[in-house]
Parts: sequence; structure tokens; C-alpha cells
Amino acid sequence: MLEDGFGREVTGVRVSLTDRCNFDCVYCHNEGLGDTRGPLDPQDDELSTDRVVAFLEVCAEYGVEAVKFTGGEPMLRDDLEELVRRTPDAMEVSMTTNGTFLPGRAAGLVDAGLERVNVSQDALDAEDFAALTNSGAYERVLEGVEAALDAGLAPVKLNMVVFEPTAGYVPRMVDHVAENRGLQLQLIEYMPELAGHPEWAIDIQRVHDWLADRADHVETREMHDRKRYFVRSETGEATPGTAMAAADGGVRTDPGASDVGMVEIVDPVGNAEFCANCHRVRLTHDGYLKGCLNRNDDLVDIGETKAQMRAAFEKTVDERVPYYGEYMVEDEDGDWTFNEAYQDSEGDRTPYEYSTDD
Ligand code: SAM
Repeated sequence: MLEDGFGREVTGVRVSLTDRCNFDCVYCHNEGLGDTRGPLDPQDDELSTDRVVAFLEVCAEYGVEAVKFTGGEPMLRDDLEELVRRTPDAMEVSMTTNGTFLPGRAAGLVDAGLERVNVSQDALDAEDFAALTNSGAYERVLEGVEAALDAGLAPVKLNMVVFEPTAGYVPRMVDHVAENRGLQLQLIEYMPELAGHPEWAIDIQRVHDWLADRADHVETREMHDRKRYFVRSETGEATPGTAMAAADGGVRTDPGASDVGMVEIVDPVGNAEFCANCHRVRLTHDGYLKGCLNRNDDLVDIGETKAQMRAAFEKTVDERVPYYGEYMVEDEDGDWTFNEAYQDSEGDRTPYEYSTDD
């Protein structure tokens, strides 16, 4: 396993299979690569099936244990089932999707080897959902979640980005996972670094505090020091805080349910601890490795041959640095400022000069 200069082993890769998407979520960072709007048919710059598989085989050589397919919308790739099937056996395969293409394909993906799925779901109301995603496919997403559960992918993690427009929906989403077996909720702090609109960000500590009150018990996961809140479904739960108070309190599908749901908060913004525990590198849909989601000045072309891919992987790991705490440093006022030591970073899509041995 390769380790960077900050003692962080790279155990996982996140592979963006396309930057195309059938949604246009208002908050989307698109893995750091800009707008997702555009044609939905396959594009010439996308990695071929063989190139993705070769890259994953190289990752397996370096002891990488897990791959997550993402995008854009990864299910717009017709070869997704083949990619999952050809992923080296030693690697766990998961996917993040908007869920709309899971009906009809979930079972085949499980047959091919898909082990886990995250489905993005930011609201429990069709109109709210449409406003956030610029899509009318709310029902289809619910069907997608059902299809994933039917295919044996429980627990299905629902990804919800928490920011001003959605903060009021949190209590209902928490109830939803407490009331429905097989669901978990991952609350993702809105990351304005790439998506803009810093004014949309909320104080995520408020959500932690509210959940700590609401939860039966709390566990801390070693990875990223992440907290997991176990919540029980309760009729008539009070909703605290300003943004939280905007929620409608939740529709109970089963007032007598006593199931416990799991809620996790992913809070990377301004969190040096989170970055110190980041063990992932990312591959863009057009074949560049990224050491950090928030940066585009460290892109390394993976090349075509496995030798080039090995060199690119080693270079990426060698050069990756924690974003908060190193690339960005905290001043005495608690503000994060750019570390001048990185002013010579190469810039967008700098071609990587391979040695003749590669
Ligand atoms: N289309 C797929 C989907 O909907 O899950 C995969 C791509 S999407 C970029 C991957 C994840 O990034 C989603 O779970 C989404 O919620 C999250 N995400 C996107 N923009 C974000 C932002 N600005 N802050 C925090 N999370 C964000």
C-alpha cells in the first residue's frame, strides 16, 4: 500500500465514469470539475472500459481495497455492469448514484459484484426535490431505492447535502431512515469550495448537537473521526434550532415503529482532522488522477499503459497533501488561507512527462 508524505495510506479510489448527468443539482461540485449540464450521450473524452479496468488492476497491485464509481451519473454508462464485473476481486465495489436508473439494473449490478450503493436524496417531497435537482424524477428515485433493497443492497445509504435550502428537511429525513428498514442516512456538509455560494453553508455543529439530543446512542467511527447517531422513530418529535424549526415535523408512516436508523455526518469543511484521515485518490472521467477533491492544480494524466498508470499513481500519492491543515492553513482569526508553499502547483491538466521507462 502506498503512503503519502503525511502518513496517509491510499486504501480507496473514487472513479468518476462520466461528467454527464440527467440531474442538475443546484449544489453540485461534480467531483470538482464544473458544470454537469450537457449532452447525455457518451462523450469522446470518457475513459474506455479497458482503460478503467487497467487502472483498477494497477490500484489492486498497490493494495487499494475499494473503488467507488461516481460521476456525473455513473449509471449513464452502459458498460457499468462490465466494469463492476471486471473490477479485481480484492477490491470492494460501491457506487454513488441519483438512483433513477436502478430499477431494472440493480439486480444485474449485484450479480456483477456491486456490494454497496449510496443514493442521493435531499428531500422527501416531490416539489422540494425538483427545486434542488432540477428534475422531476422524485418517484423514480424512490423506485430506485426500492430496487436496490430488493436486489439485496441493504443498507442503502441516502446521501443528503445539508445547506440552507435543505437544513429544514433533516428531521423528516432522519425519521424516514428510522422508520424504514434497510436505509441509512449520510448527511453531507455542503462544500462551497467548488460549488460556490458560501452563503448557503450552515454551521454543521448545529446538526451534530440536534442529532446528539435526538439519538438513542452515538458512536465515533475511527475513519475521519466520524460520528454515527442511532435514532429511534418517535411520533411528535420536537424540532430544534432556527433552520430545523422550518421542518414540518415529519410524516409518520408507522407511528408504532421502533426501528433504529443510523445517521452519519460527513463534515469536511475547515476540518483538518478529516483531511488528515483522507485515504482516497480520485480519477476523473477523462483520465486524470486527483489527490484531493478540492484541487484541480494537481491533476496527473494516467496515460495509456499500465506502466504509465503506475507512474501516475505513485506521483499522485507522492504529491498529495491534506487540503485543510496544509494546502490551506488557519490564521490566528480562525480563517483558512492559501499556503503560499503551493503557489507553483502545476495548474489544470498539465501533461505529465513520463520517463522513457514508462
Ligand atoms: N450522480 C451521482 C449522485 O447523484 O450521487 C454521483 C455524483 S454526485 C457529485 C456524488 C455526491 O456528491 C452526491 O452524494 C452529492 O450529494 C455530493 N455532492 C455534490 N456536490 C456537493 C457539495 N457541493 N457539497 C457536498 N456534497 C456534494
